[in-house]
Amino acid sequence: MENIADFKEIVDAIKEKGGEAFKYCYQCGMCDTVCPWNRVRSFSMRKLIRQATFGLVEVENEEIWRCTTCGRCQQRCPRGVGILEVGMANRRLATEFDVFPAHVKTIRGVSQSLASEGNPLNGERKDRANWTEGLSVKTFEEGMEILYFPCCYLSYDPRLKKVARATVTILNKAGVDFGILGVREKCCGESIRKTGNEDLFRRLAKDNIKTFIDSGVKKILVSSPHCYHAFKNEYAEFKVNFEVVHITQYLNELVNAGRLKLRGDYHKKVTYHDPCYLGRHNSIYEEPRDTLRRVPGLQLYELPDARADSLCCGGGGGRIWMDTPKEERFSDLRLDQVSDIGAEVLVTACPYCITNFEDSRMNRQDGEAMEIKDITELIQEVI
Ligand code: SF4
Ligand code: SF4
Repeated sequence: MENIADFKEIVDAIKEKGGEAFKYCYQCGMCDTVCPWNRVRSFSMRKLIRQATFGLVEVENEEIWRCTTCGRCQQRCPRGVGILEVGMANRRLATEFDVFPAHVKTIRGVSQSLASEGNPLNGERKDRANWTEGLSVKTFEEGMEILYFPCCYLSYDPRLKKVARATVTILNKAGVDFGILGVREKCCGESIRKTGNEDLFRRLAKDNIKTFIDSGVKKILVSSPHCYHAFKNEYAEFKVNFEVVHITQYLNELVNAGRLKLRGDYHKKVTYHDPCYLGRHNSIYEEPRDTLRRVPGLQLYELPDARADSLCCGGGGGRIWMDTPKEERFSDLRLDQVSDIGAEVLVTACPYCITNFEDSRMNRQDGEAMEIKDITELIQEVI
């Protein structure tokens, strides 16, 4: 295959794109051992890192688009290699040269939608708050307790609007003084950044930061672990520091403070899936489990590959926008595990996980008997 430039120029280009962390790699292969891709087909991040070291990156190679940024390899790497940075640097090069293999071309449309409408789903900006229809939701004003930032998927996707609505029902029940930004809200930019489009990420981040500051926002409640990661860890690069809380943490706070009473009786076998960007990337493991355990009657079962070893759903790193052949979906493997432990309800707390699990569920023979729920949807049933 053709290289866009030779050796040293490529090494320098990757370093410039933020991927110089490859220099500590000693090719042990631990990253490949834990990578979920190797459960469904062969894939070698070790090889991509080696190629980067020698300046042999093939930007047209679809392998550079495979990584979901799940973080398992980086957590296990004995040399502390910034593996995700190397992967992103490769994609930044490809994006700069506008080289996208067939199944990645969807990224172009996603980028256009993000740039013009502020969301990746081709939804019109004016429709962003339509999910609130019939609910009591105020526009955020300075002095309110918290800003609720539902994210693009919860604002536009019919399945995920139910999660935004469940969240609002819970907040109202607990007497939380909250508001939303409505049409002024834009995508956090986390996932488009992972596809290598740094400019678009920075534009979205700056727009959101300006809106937060202009509106007097101090504390932000998010439903998506990807928004959580962006606001908490990535927006810090812009020298701002908003208090960010994920709904799994906030629910636990509300229950602990006695503001939310869990009254119902929930006699189903439940298991919890740790989203990569909530667990591995941000160490939030206990709060969702603690809240679920407090639901009267609920039996909580652990999946294999739980907590820091959680099996990625396949949706991070911009993969949510790319086609993955049926036989290569990690979410199918996850639902096999749910079925193996005899759980009836799979609870999670991420819009990408729910999207992928619902797709997998519909293709299963036992799919009818399995429920996929955001934690708010379950809690809504017991308050
Ligand atoms: S685990 Fe780390 S040191 Fe080992 S091959 Fe992967 S990146 Fe290199
Ligand atoms: S971040 Fe996850 S998907 Fe990407 S190479 Fe590492 S283990 Fe594989």
